[in-house]
Amino acid sequence: MTALAKIVHTAPEIEAEPDLTDGFHLVIDALKLNGIETIYGVPGIPITDLGRMAQAAGMRVVSFRHEQHAGNAAAIAGFLTQKPGICLTVSAPGFLNGLTALANATTNCFPMILISGSSEREIVDLQQGDYEEMDQLAIAKPLCKAAFRVLHAADIGIGVARAIRAACSGRPGGVYLDLPAKLFSQVMEAEAGQKSLVKVIDPAPAQRPAPEAITRALEVLKSARRPLIVLGKGAAYAQADDAIRALVETSGIPYVPMSMAKGLLPDTHPLSAGAARSTALKDSDVVLLIGARLNWLLSHGKGKSWGEPGSTKFIQIDIEPREMDSNVEIVAPVVGDIASCVQALLDGMGQGWQQPPVDWIDTLKTKREANIAKMAPKLMSNASPMTFHAALGALRTIVKERPDAILVNEGANTLDLARGIIDMYQPRKRLDVGTWGIMGIGMGFAVAAAVETGKPVLCVEGDSAFGFSGMEVETICRYGLPVCIVVFNNNGIYRGTDSDPTGRDPATTVFVKDSRYDKMMEAFGGDGYHVTSPDELTRAVNAAMDSSRPSLINAVIDPAAGSESGNIGSLNPQSGIKKKA
Ligand code: ADP
Ligand code: MG
Repeated sequence: MTALAKIVHTAPEIEAEPDLTDGFHLVIDALKLNGIETIYGVPGIPITDLGRMAQAAGMRVVSFRHEQHAGNAAAIAGFLTQKPGICLTVSAPGFLNGLTALANATTNCFPMILISGSSEREIVDLQQGDYEEMDQLAIAKPLCKAAFRVLHAADIGIGVARAIRAACSGRPGGVYLDLPAKLFSQVMEAEAGQKSLVKVIDPAPAQRPAPEAITRALEVLKSARRPLIVLGKGAAYAQADDAIRALVETSGIPYVPMSMAKGLLPDTHPLSAGAARSTALKDSDVVLLIGARLNWLLSHGKGKSWGEPGSTKFIQIDIEPREMDSNVEIVAPVVGDIASCVQALLDGMGQGWQQPPVDWIDTLKTKREANIAKMAPKLMSNASPMTFHAALGALRTIVKERPDAILVNEGANTLDLARGIIDMYQPRKRLDVGTWGIMGIGMGFAVAAAVETGKPVLCVEGDSAFGFSGMEVETICRYGLPVCIVVFNNNGIYRGTDSDPTGRDPATTVFVKDSRYDKMMEAFGGDGYHVTSPDELTRAVNAAMDSSRPSLINAVIDPAAGSESGNIGSLNPQSGIKKKA
């Protein structure tokens, strides 16, 4: 034994300092362990360092200018990827701003987790007036699918796991995760911390339908003379694209896509009855709903849109059992995940399946061709100022030539008309105002669509709709995203021609005349274009999309071209007081 070894051997034993971790690192590790690589948020107290550390740990952290747009980005990331999108906000006001997006995600069945920092529980619960004091958990609860708070660093792993499972399993939705400021600085031994993390196994387990539900559904479908399939955004979310296409083509049943289900099969598919929607709904006798709810967007499954009372039988595929009979009787409920249910129907159809009667197919085909022919001349006008139809006619060709671009669409007339005019060719390429029909999703959706898919994004925005999230053009420029925004500028909401009867102020529905939204994009280093005719619009969009640079095209639309509330004007109450003649 050498002298040195002897010394070492006899030295008093020093306890090695254990490696430590803290709340910040555990949150990041828990997300990463579950394959979550991106956070959308707005930094501030108490989560500023969380964003910094997440970025340092290799996560993508996309900072917005307002939490609502970060929240909308997270929500649509969830729709596109089936993984919960993460939105990170500060306490009280930041949380409330994010909450709108969380509620919207829940309404639309998109998986998302809103993580907000919060103030000290001891002070909040005694209402002693903390910085941004608010009982956030209580406020979030009624507006989302689930809400959790973590108080101990050792529970972060399980808290994140619960949030992920709640967001993704069954009917997807929004989850709130409350993380008080003190939690982030809590320290624990790294090894114990590592062990406390949970990797969620099978976060959205398959839910196979009961065989008798499939038999019942097939019996009803076989009895149909005029069957119809309605595809909803649940079908798009499910990513069962091949099975859905096979079901439509094997059954020979025409289908109508809801707006975010457009492109699941190309809108030009021979069995698409999208352009004959009214006839298809009114005259069908059996309707198979796949991931579509009978809410206001389908006239609640009753009334004039559906023909004679009781003339339509509904079969419904949905993962949420309580969706059945929500508005009208569902004669054949098929509860389960769409991939499993559609496959089971296909298997059950087997060899001897009878195609629907040809006269029904012909009726829809004739109607569809007539509607398309009627629309065609309006789409081709090159007049200036542009009508909505002519501008959308130009964009329709661009989307046909660039089918992998993602289309984000919001507005009133801009939305309604684009939905009908612009054909989609691939699944999950159309992102819009969804179940609530809200304005303000535009830039949040655009950012996440570009970040999550790496594909070019084309946003078709009413000037009013754009205003809700317009400041995020800076975010688009900062991250250098391939987003081309077209603002349909008609000087106002619905129309730009209203006036204040007293002559004092601008009318409530008009904006500054001849605004130049393109300059907003230029202010942050992106490219601006100003166009007044469909030909100019086509050239500008092609140049913008070829460049892959952030760009905004101010497209001047005839201020007199729009109609009140687009095609949902019937929802606008009218004064009950009749004007004297
Ligand atoms: P749309 O607005 O396009 O009609 P909705 O949002 O009304 O679509 O309906 C979507 C439906 O899809 C919801 O009822 C939801 O429960 C259901 N859903 C979502 N994901 C799945 C899935 N993987 N399997 C089955 N149903 C699903
Ligand atoms: Mg407008």
